[in-house]
Amino acid sequence: MTPQERMLHTQRATALLQSAWQEGRIAHAYCFHGPHGSGKQALSMLFAASVNCENIASNKGLWPCGECKSCKQARSLQHPNITYVFPTPAPKSGTNQSTMLSGLTDIQVENIRNEMHKKGQDPFYHMSIDGARAIRVASIRAAKRGASMSASQSGRRFLLVFEADKMNQEAANAFLKTLEEPGAELTIILTTARKDMMLDTIMSRCQQVQLHPFDEEQIAAYMQHTQQIDEERATFIARLSKGSISQATALLDEDVNGLREEALNWMRQCLRPRSYAPEVTKLNELFGRQRDVARTKNLLALLQVWLRDALIIQQEGNRDHVVNIDQEQALERFVGAFGQANFSEAIRVIDEAVDYLNGNVQIAVALTRLAIRLRRVFFAQTREQ
Ligand SMILES: [Zn+2]
Repeated sequence: MTPQERMLHTQRATALLQSAWQEGRIAHAYCFHGPHGSGKQALSMLFAASVNCENIASNKGLWPCGECKSCKQARSLQHPNITYVFPTPAPKSGTNQSTMLSGLTDIQVENIRNEMHKKGQDPFYHMSIDGARAIRVASIRAAKRGASMSASQSGRRFLLVFEADKMNQEAANAFLKTLEEPGAELTIILTTARKDMMLDTIMSRCQQVQLHPFDEEQIAAYMQHTQQIDEERATFIARLSKGSISQATALLDEDVNGLREEALNWMRQCLRPRSYAPEVTKLNELFGRQRDVARTKNLLALLQVWLRDALIIQQEGNRDHVVNIDQEQALERFVGAFGQANFSEAIRVIDEAVDYLNGNVQIAVALTRLAIRLRRVFFAQTREQ
């Protein structure tokens, strides 16, 4: 079994699907929903691969053998019974649009193939396809045609739709028709981190399966095992990931120490007793110009970890739980300067800023608002004294 499969078995959803299969009641349509990085796409792939594995009986659970022809096809995303639909770039106008890839440039097709290859190697990998904003109706139609052909291989057909909330209206309508006339041996799995964006007419026809964020300990063990990093770095990254396996993987490529330095500099400028605004405004505009929401969220996650450490020191808790242990003296100075501050409230206020960013508020606007709120949290006590 792969490390990814082992991780997925910590999700309650996996046990739920396993018993549905054992009892011979696999639904025609599912919607897997849950936060980013909770393994929704990976679980849909695992389910489809298990049900199609040649060496598996349903009583063995969702552990495909990984050796048979069917498993190999599934792992390379080439299984004739498993069709994938996900957002792709808009095609050149006027071109024939018979498949998901038609009308795209060679470079775009190459980009998609590369991303699919990475996804096959690591089901937790988050595919990043340039210019992919919507699931096109051509993709749905092509998938429907594929699903209605008689199976060339025994097993069960699956249609996996990633980021299903990105179906445009036309695609959603075409898809609804598919849901109304499901083939006996076809199971459709939609995955989405934005359940609120899904049409009710679609959701009401699917069995809903919720996934939850992973535990920090699970992520740390997984990162250590799969990425050959030491325990300290794995724990640090796991704390920053907030239960998201894709966030943890993204942080691997980030210069975490450099980013932490930037984050702390930003907070120091915010918390200057006087004339903080010009310097903070300059920094906010700089982050805004970078247009990198993922990086900004990492930066805020680093601030939260710093504040959590400060809280431990403030409350004289167990220092084994301090993440930024390499910065212990700086942390002590920070707590010395703001020892009366409500660090939990500051952490909560940063959560709100992340929500704003998720709702597509501009980076500079979200950070400016956060700066004002943080000052209120940090200086409230001082004023009262
Ligand atoms: Zn197999």
